[in-house]
Amino acid sequence: MAQIAVIGTGYVGLTTGACFAHLGHGVVCLDVDAHKVARLNSGEIPILEDQLPELVKQGMTSGRLTFTTETAEAVGGAEFAFLCVPTPQSESGEADLTYVEMAAREIAPHIPRDSVVVNKSTVPVGSTRVVERAMRRSDVHVVSNPEFLREGTAVHDFLNPDRVVVGGDDQAAAMRVAELYAGTKAPVVVTDAASAEMIKYAANAFLATKISFVNAVATICEGVGADIRDVVRGMGYDKRIGHDFLRPGPGWGGSCFPKDTTALLRIAEQADYRFDLLEGVIAANLGQFDRTAERIAAGLTAGETVAVWGLTFKALTDDLRDSPSLEIVRRLLKKGLRVQAFDPTVSGNLAVIPEVVITDSELRACDGASVLAVLTEWENFRWVDPSEVANRLSTRRVVDGRNLLDRSVWRSAGFDYQGIGR
Ligand code: NAD
Repeated sequence: MAQIAVIGTGYVGLTTGACFAHLGHGVVCLDVDAHKVARLNSGEIPILEDQLPELVKQGMTSGRLTFTTETAEAVGGAEFAFLCVPTPQSESGEADLTYVEMAAREIAPHIPRDSVVVNKSTVPVGSTRVVERAMRRSDVHVVSNPEFLREGTAVHDFLNPDRVVVGGDDQAAAMRVAELYAGTKAPVVVTDAASAEMIKYAANAFLATKISFVNAVATICEGVGADIRDVVRGMGYDKRIGHDFLRPGPGWGGSCFPKDTTALLRIAEQADYRFDLLEGVIAANLGQFDRTAERIAAGLTAGETVAVWGLTFKALTDDLRDSPSLEIVRRLLKKGLRVQAFDPTVSGNLAVIPEVVITDSELRACDGASVLAVLTEWENFRWVDPSEVANRLSTRRVVDGRNLLDRSVWRSAGFDYQGIGR
């Protein structure tokens, strides 16, 4: 079993650390956020992620998982150091590599010779070179190992990946990284660094394309009287298409798709290719936010209130980064509407949009509102009694941006129910 350092304890880093410890490796997780490390050391998990509390506890009890803010302690005895730091979108649209370079510079003086630095952050083609240059250590290997986990099912995805991708110019170092995943029994794609980096961007852009495509088809369904739910069922049975990611909604978002699609446009530009298709996918997504907001706001005048169910970018996570719900909320506020929202993971106030009134239940969000909008697919929303909602709203109107609610039940309760694409 190997000794691993994980740099950055966010959604990817903490999952990586806990899962590698679960697979039997020794793991030290490093973060610059001292408060986060103190919480982790006291057994508190700073993010919502299924199975993660159990795995972290198991790792800490076994002694295979520890947390620190001290770089030397984390990497001094490491055979592998996984970089899991943010790569946000820069002003020009490219991935900002500041955190990656900083982390590489910090670990360089402490990491043993012949160890492997593994870039798990999503980074543009050529970033292994950036890490090599930042480290100035010719006796250390740098390998790319992009991560494909989904928030909400991160532990499951890490331990049961569809595939593991490892890319490096030194194939022996890449194979050493691939072996760390032996316990997951996943197919492994070992390739060069540029191809590994490209696989991650191409995969995310393809998934975003699938959603924008289905949202466009949903809009056409509305115009021709077809039901998108049956349309995607019929499409999905085709093995070349598949059922996954064929669900229409208010638009895609989250901490990865928006920045990664924009970064791929810049990568394409640098390769002298104008990626019109992907530009169209991004434009279609912005159009979907606009269309959903218009639908919710239809017939309302400034000062009226919209009840919003769901703020996170998807269910089962507490991550609000680039959430479609927030995109739509911003559009509603711009129209002079008020927003009263409930999300199971948000309490107090919403720092990113303080104008939103946060309530502590689905029904309280509806008090005095003119319309209800469902924007995140939290399962609990399905089971709220429409007659109780009707008692709180001034008009029986619901816009179900996730096709989550039972349309016939809501219509029987007297609601003007509008879903997406049906
Ligand atoms: P995050 O923001 O949740 O966590 C990043 C962590 O890194 C933070 O705790 C931060 O304090 C820490 N950090 C920053 N600089 C550091 C340094 N120099 N040393 C030590 N710690 C440092 O980020 P995330 O969502 O886990 O994403 C990390 C990377 O993984 C990004 O490139 C992202 O695109 C990619 N990725 C994310 C997901 C996802 O679902 N979140 C999935 C696949 C890939």
